[in-house]
Amino acid sequence: MRIFDPHIHMTSRTTDDYERMAAAGVRALVEPAFWLGQPRTGVGSFVDYFDALIGWERYRAGQFGIAHHCAIALNPKEANDPRCRPVLDVLPRYLGKDRVVAVGEVGYDSMTPEEDTAFAAQLRLAAEFELPVLVHTPHRNKVEGTRRTLDVIRESGVPPERVVVDHLNELTVRMVADSGCWMGFSIYPDTKMSERRMAVILREHGTARMLVNSAADWGRSDPLKTRATGLHLLSAGFGEDEVDRVLWRNPVDFYGQSGRLELSGDSPEPAFAGNSILRGGVDDEIPAR
Ligand SMILES: [Zn+2]
Repeated sequence: MRIFDPHIHMTSRTTDDYERMAAAGVRALVEPAFWLGQPRTGVGSFVDYFDALIGWERYRAGQFGIAHHCAIALNPKEANDPRCRPVLDVLPRYLGKDRVVAVGEVGYDSMTPEEDTAFAAQLRLAAEFELPVLVHTPHRNKVEGTRRTLDVIRESGVPPERVVVDHLNELTVRMVADSGCWMGFSIYPDTKMSERRMAVILREHGTARMLVNSAADWGRSDPLKTRATGLHLLSAGFGEDEVDRVLWRNPVDFYGQSGRLELSGDSPEPAFAGNSILRGGVDDEIPAR
């Protein structure tokens, strides 16, 4: 089983996690910039974090043959802090870099006017840099928050096929499917979404534009939930091709729109030692494990 985790926060994970992920078939991932738990007090903290995402984490992942990419943004929660908002002026410096494959995570936390401003500004940046966008949906008022999120995306002019709306559930999947955006699901040990519920959703809505992630971070979460979902789907009667589509080809197609995915083949070498560079969703050349 080859796995591309389209949303995971490796900054918060250990080297053992990288090792277990590689053994489980995770060959590529996208790490979106997010809230680190401890509030940041200034732009310098973001700059160091973004540099770690494009540098240090890429190196850590490469030691285990995992191709590391990232998404860069001011997260919704810290968009409310006036000490953090000037980071919006720094983002263009990063959005042009290799391996930065999206703007994210952006969207709403508490749906404040400050979040509105930051969300709209970052959608403009995504349009300018022609990058995909990873949109977080709020944990509270999810239905209302998702509806408002889709309105803002529609008004932004960013094409829906370049947007993934994440952390969906049974109540929000339909409206995102109808919008033309991609649908993201975070499989957690005990909240949000489980492997079983994911199988029911995929059976009802199909596998097109569907992304499954572990969203593992500093909270209770599991970086192997992508594989657990794949195994459950197989046991629930899904074919290997369908599982490969959800866990590999869909994220390759979505983030491939950046033109910046760098995926190794089946080589045991570290991901950025002489790997091939694939552009625009070319996935047929990658041999199945
Ligand atoms: Zn996240």
